[in-house]
Amino acid sequence: MAASDPRRRVPSTDTVLTDSRLVAATDLLGASSVKAAVHSAQERVRQGELPPEAVADAAVATLPGHATHLRPVVNATGVVLHTNLGRAPLSPAAIDAMAAASGYVDVEFDVESGDRARRGRATLDALRDAVPAAEDVLVVNNGAAALVLATTALAGDGEVLVSRGEMVEIGDGFRLPDLIASTGARLREVGTTNRTNLDDYATALRSEAGAAEIRAILKVHPSNFRVEGFTSAVSVDELAELGPPVIVDVGSGLLTADPLLPDEPDMTSAVRSGAAVVTASGDKLLGGPQAGLLLGRAEVIQRLRRHPLARALRVDKLTLAALEATLRNPRTPTEHYLHADVDALRRRAEVLAAALEAEVVPSAGAVGGGGAPGLELPGWAVALPTRYAEELRRQVPAVVGRIEHDRLMLDLRCVPEHDDDTVRNAVLRVRNELG
Ligand SMILES: *Cc1c(COP(=O)(O)O)cnc(C)c1O
Repeated sequence: MAASDPRRRVPSTDTVLTDSRLVAATDLLGASSVKAAVHSAQERVRQGELPPEAVADAAVATLPGHATHLRPVVNATGVVLHTNLGRAPLSPAAIDAMAAASGYVDVEFDVESGDRARRGRATLDALRDAVPAAEDVLVVNNGAAALVLATTALAGDGEVLVSRGEMVEIGDGFRLPDLIASTGARLREVGTTNRTNLDDYATALRSEAGAAEIRAILKVHPSNFRVEGFTSAVSVDELAELGPPVIVDVGSGLLTADPLLPDEPDMTSAVRSGAAVVTASGDKLLGGPQAGLLLGRAEVIQRLRRHPLARALRVDKLTLAALEATLRNPRTPTEHYLHADVDALRRRAEVLAAALEAEVVPSAGAVGGGGAPGLELPGWAVALPTRYAEELRRQVPAVVGRIEHDRLMLDLRCVPEHDDDTVRNAVLRVRNELG
């Protein structure tokens, strides 16, 4: 090699690491990943692929912008609660609350007296205020955890009555019968897949074994499918008359009924109907962080709170903070996207399509996240050839659309308006790359 060969002038690691951008990246990402990026840039100089003076730039270019491998996604699928994309996006208030709660906080401490205080009390107050019909409330890790806690505490190793029409799989391995079995309780099924009536429950309760063994009645919202035709189910009011405590899993976390979603049960109505305890998720229609909400009669919630399992299912300070902010200001992105104005969506799609010389087509969005099955949210999408899909997913942020009828649909329902430009620029870059 000649002395002037750039491959012999590879700058030392220590020299490169003095670059101010790499100093900042070391604080954010840790020394080992920054060093690894520098080493691979040095290797490229040795291979003759990079001039020696470009090592720092190349290392900076390969480093991620955040200390998490979770990559931000622009959700152009039209599906509001996309489980694979993290369900509900948090509101600015919830994000701010999480940042505020990230250091030492008084989560279990009374700064006035210096004594220990009830964990997450402000969040529980916010939930109580949001559903005043409930005598008491509790928050756990997710909807499944809420159901496990309620069943464990109320049924023990006894039986739980449930309709055969509600033996559901919610998604990704969440099968109700398996979940209940894992608590040690046994399910006693009544009725049929399409029809269950009050007498089915009453007959089970009247039987000798039933009277001794049945500790609770469970009603689960079949949230991700619809049975149509010759069907019937028993209301919570009627079940509450039968005697054993009624556990109602509403799933979606709606605080009160929403006319847009007539078939989605809400927590307020379920509590009013006489449920002993109502369970729901925090990151579905409520639009908050992953959490399991439990609302109901004071003595029942008290029992759940005192159960040893409650400690294992408790939420952290960040969840408490985000949930409190969401409950106090339920104008969440989820709410906004669900109720998005169709004409405004069309106008935005037309602006985007004009910039991309693409076509605007009608697009049926969905609630998703196992909510409001069959309900179409009418909207508009920009249609592109499907070959754009993969490259768009590789952009930063990743742009994820929906493939339908051999086209890539970019539906702007769940895209914040300020990200329309992000989508446009991503498509233009991809068009350049694809040639
Ligand atoms: C989503 C859902 C669950 C599970 O809730 P997670 O918060 O995902 O644990 C349970 N029951 C119903 C009816 C649901 O829709």
